[in-house]
Amino acid sequence: MSGQGGEYALSAEFLSALGDVPVATDPAVVKRKSRDFYWYSPLLKVILDGLYATCIVTPCTVEDVLTVARASRQTGTYLTARGGGTGNYGQAVPLKGGAVIDMSSLNQLLWVRDGVARVQAGMNMLAMDRALNRHGYELRMFPSTKRTATIGGFVCGGSGGIGSVTWGGLRCLGNVLAAQIVSMENEPGIVELRGQETRIINHAYGTTGLVTELEVPVAPRTDWQDIAVAFPTLNEAAVFARSLAMQTGIDKKLVSVADDGLVPFFAPLRDKVPAGHSVVMLMIAPSGVSSAIDLAEAAGGIHVYQASTREAEDDPGRVPLYELTWNHTTLQVLKKDRGYTYLQAGFPPRNTVALVNEIAALFPEGEMMTHLEFIFMDGEMSCAGLPVIRFTTPERLNEIIRLCEERGIMIANPHVYTIEDGGAHRVVSPALAADKRRFDPDGLLNPGKMRSFEEA
Ligand SMILES: Cc1cc2nc3c(=O)[nH]c(=O)nc-3n(C[C@H](O)[C@H](O)[C@H](O)COP(=O)(O)OP(=O)(O)OC[C@H]3O[C@@H](n4cnc5c(N)ncnc54)[C@H](O)[C@@H]3O)c2cc1C
Repeated sequence: MSGQGGEYALSAEFLSALGDVPVATDPAVVKRKSRDFYWYSPLLKVILDGLYATCIVTPCTVEDVLTVARASRQTGTYLTARGGGTGNYGQAVPLKGGAVIDMSSLNQLLWVRDGVARVQAGMNMLAMDRALNRHGYELRMFPSTKRTATIGGFVCGGSGGIGSVTWGGLRCLGNVLAAQIVSMENEPGIVELRGQETRIINHAYGTTGLVTELEVPVAPRTDWQDIAVAFPTLNEAAVFARSLAMQTGIDKKLVSVADDGLVPFFAPLRDKVPAGHSVVMLMIAPSGVSSAIDLAEAAGGIHVYQASTREAEDDPGRVPLYELTWNHTTLQVLKKDRGYTYLQAGFPPRNTVALVNEIAALFPEGEMMTHLEFIFMDGEMSCAGLPVIRFTTPERLNEIIRLCEERGIMIANPHVYTIEDGGAHRVVSPALAADKRRFDPDGLLNPGKMRSFEEA
């Protein structure tokens, strides 16, 4: 596998078929836009370092995307879509060279009405939120990378985030209402997917179509309050967090737990949280703030921090609490120490806190730091763990995965680059392969990422 050293030379025929769609071939730009955050994984770093495209094409309109798709079909040139490039598993890394198609210039909010927004897929999520705010709305769900990610990259590469404590994961029915894609059929065309059909593109890494527009539900604009509460033990923090997450009368957007080992990596909190304490980070609507604080104090918590999320977000010198949560927790640690990595764990909705404690107790001091995100899924409150792990060897990482799975915790492995291996079941899926055959029969989109298609 290699996209390096000019092995995949830029085809003159492809370039000429692009017409006036902008193309960049400057090696520095090409290399930068061929990478994502795969380096979180020491295993993926070894495999993916040095893989890059031969050029970056930047369509500005849906018609441009069609032109790129036709040029790709005519010349057999691979295409890998890119939004903000914040994916974690090499999702946007072109394994076999070809062109990266940078979707970020398709960046317009098209309309908002009755709690639904239609948007171009390359729109940055912070810009989208700000545009929605002007209509009295906001994003219902966003990744902690809101400042840099695009809505298309989130739907095609992400899984959930801030908002999931109320709205569940991206895959939950109703979280993506429609998608317009440019297909890679014999004659590339525009296809509108509605409702359940959008599953074809959700977390499919752009292997089943180039997403040009999305329709998503939006929520009334709220002045969310960042709140942090410190607890003497991880158990107390997790018990409170779960109890708060389940309060139906409190409007909330984020319920996140970090153990005492992580607190020193959190600049806005480290001087406020007493030594040795774990912290619960919340985003609560103004109407729920006093109830949330009462509940926290009754559970033995110390209310250590409060600020408006939006004010922190608007000030480049400050950090909204959500940038300490989800996969930003790992980033805060990696900024100081590249010796760490992470896992993605799904805890069951029953015995959740007991299992969290059991897992935390399995590992020697310093090997694993506990980080939880509460998520409302299928009518029950469960949580995702994104433990930060001191990396030693691949064998030990696999052993940690085994120890978790033996206890009924599902691991979505972030150290692999195919859709299937990163999923819960790690099996090839005939349904996924059929979607791919329908919209990209020649396998030109993001090759190497879908085993179900390649192995068939
Ligand atoms: C610090 C950090 C924190 C994160 N937090 C979260 C989080 O809270 N929740 C979460 O779910 N993820 C999270 N992630 C992962 C990542 O940020 C999200 O998946 C993000 O939404 C990706 O958006 P992007 O625009 O950067 O996508 P990219 O990385 O550019 O692309 C992601 C995938 O989608 C494909 N793609 C992009 N745009 C299109 C398009 N228009 N059409 C077809 N395919 C497309 C790409 O080919 C790639 O396979 C985090 C990552 C980091 C590094």
